[in-house]
Amino acid sequence: MIDRLVVASKNRDKIEEMEDVLVATGVVGEIVRGLDWPDVDETEPTLEGNALLKAKAVERATGLCAVADDTGLEVLALGGAPGVYTARYAGPEATYDDNVTKLLDEMSGFDDRRARFRTAVALVGGGYPDLVVEGSIDGVISRQRRGAGGFGYDPVFEVDGETFAEMGVARKNVLSHRARAIRALVEALSRRTDP
Ligand code: IMP
Repeated sequence: MIDRLVVASKNRDKIEEMEDVLVATGVVGEIVRGLDWPDVDETEPTLEGNALLKAKAVERATGLCAVADDTGLEVLALGGAPGVYTARYAGPEATYDDNVTKLLDEMSGFDDRRARFRTAVALVGGGYPDLVVEGSIDGVISRQRRGAGGFGYDPVFEVDGETFAEMGVARKNVLSHRARAIRALVEALSRRTDP
């Protein structure tokens, strides 16, 4: 059990999803909101490295246990791209929409649409060793945007015939890469012993 935890992200969509999933697991007493910290550049070459970098920086700045995630979309036909560059696929200032447009353009010649969302989640603080786990989900990139929910690449990431943007937040939060990573975190927490 973690008494007080801060979600080390400034992305509102992601914070909401992380909080929903974390609260549902019952391992966190209080999620502390409304804190601020200096921006953290994602300079590591891996999702795991970036998740750890963010969690450590926020733990240092707030003095609280911090959980951070880093997510990549890995498209088979594109050799695993955009991967660690998923957030900046269409450039440093890219919007969600710019990134989706670039992805659909890059995929236009491909019938093999297989892709995987992968999330690394890091938890640091409280005197325990750092924890890093991952979760992933396989899907396909749809040919067009479908659905109004979610964020980021959700309108074009399809699982069992439905995009994440079509399926609704309750189903996404059971199936998704992030939900799976957080469940892996909870499992790891249940195995650890007091420092
Ligand atoms: P980061 O983990 O904040 O670096 O996110 C990487 C990129 O993946 C961003 O462009 C996000 O919008 C996108 N992304 C992260 N999680 C999801 C998701 O659950 N659905 C769709 N896009 C996502």
